Amino acid sequence: DRVISFHSGLSDGERIKAWRRCRQGGANVVVGTRSAIFLPMPQLGLIVLDEEHDSSYKQESPMPCYHARDVARIRMELEGARLLFGSATPSLENWLLSQQDNAAMGLLELRDRIAARPLPPVHVVDMRQELASGHRRLLSRPLLDRLMQLPERQEQAVVLVPRRGYSTFLSCRSCGEVVMCPHCDVSLTVHRNSRGDSWLRCHWCDHRQEISDRCGHCGSTAFKPFGAGTQRVMDTLEQELEGVRLLRFDRDTTRGRDGHQRLLQQFAAGEADVLVGTQMLAKGMDLPSVTLAAVLAADGQLHRPDVRAAEESLQLMLQLAGRAGRGERPGEVLVQTYSPDHRVIRHLIDGRYGRFLEEEASVRQGAGLVPYSRACILRLAGPAAS
Ligand SMILES: [Zn+2]
Ligand SMILES: [Zn+2]
Ligand SMILES: [Zn+2]
Repeated sequence: DRVISFHSGLSDGERIKAWRRCRQGGANVVVGTRSAIFLPMPQLGLIVLDEEHDSSYKQESPMPCYHARDVARIRMELEGARLLFGSATPSLENWLLSQQDNAAMGLLELRDRIAARPLPPVHVVDMRQELASGHRRLLSRPLLDRLMQLPERQEQAVVLVPRRGYSTFLSCRSCGEVVMCPHCDVSLTVHRNSRGDSWLRCHWCDHRQEISDRCGHCGSTAFKPFGAGTQRVMDTLEQELEGVRLLRFDRDTTRGRDGHQRLLQQFAAGEADVLVGTQMLAKGMDLPSVTLAAVLAADGQLHRPDVRAAEESLQLMLQLAGRAGRGERPGEVLVQTYSPDHRVIRHLIDGRYGRFLEEEASVRQGAGLVPYSRACILRLAGPAAS
């Protein structure tokens, strides 16, 4: 009972009790989520941030906004503690800090994966080819085949689908072209109003343009907004995968106390063949019968209008890849995309994350982006756009 847990599932009363116990020195170890970084510990000796690359360490709302990584660093300095960041896919910021001459932070590398098993091989399915050969499904033929075999082989799979409410962009299903802002190196986002009008807008510079019905690159009319919610994807998968049992794993189905745990236990007990979910899927679960990790539409991650889109999508896909082949049978990763030549996909196949970080650092430096500059978001809210 010298170990305390601290998370959002606690009642206010329980949180205050935990806070008091920490303050009185009644705990040796606190295991907690983001805000646990503020707990008072009279003899703080060590702070560990596991999965330090995870963007949920940053609180965006409600105020105050803070990054647990920065708070940890400040507490380390003020209280003379040691700080340990853990990750298989370190954030660019921390990695750069560890690469400086006489860096205050050292890099310790674990070179072997669990039980010395290699990272599973990555296969990329070019969805443009699927379309060209008349196959217009959400699931490519290779992925469909692989998933249909699961029940017979008594294996399981995890399938990553885009997060709900993802901003959608316009992409060509024939050539993979994505409509980009003419001024900024980001994809334009599709906006709609209540009258059903839609247009394209740049989230960085507010450039706006009309939506054309043909690809400006190849003239194809297979040119439409990209992105579907988890439920719609589930419905389609259920139709396309007859005889395969699916379990949905996202924010909606894991609500409530132990919601995650309950679903994962169901899956581990073999009550489903495929776990379909959003990025939560990639978070450190150890499921030995999972032999396949699949990404339904990598494009949703790759073309997000965000400075960290490349970094975060590679982290996500590498973490997801790490879910496959943790047991006796070897694993495999299948990624469906319209942009198989995207540099993130190349680095995913290559598998050497450090190589990506070096390249990403020079891209960001060249473009004057974070962490080589500072950025801030001005968010205005009101009942009407005027
Ligand atoms: Zn722009
Ligand atoms: Zn095209
Ligand atoms: Zn590269």
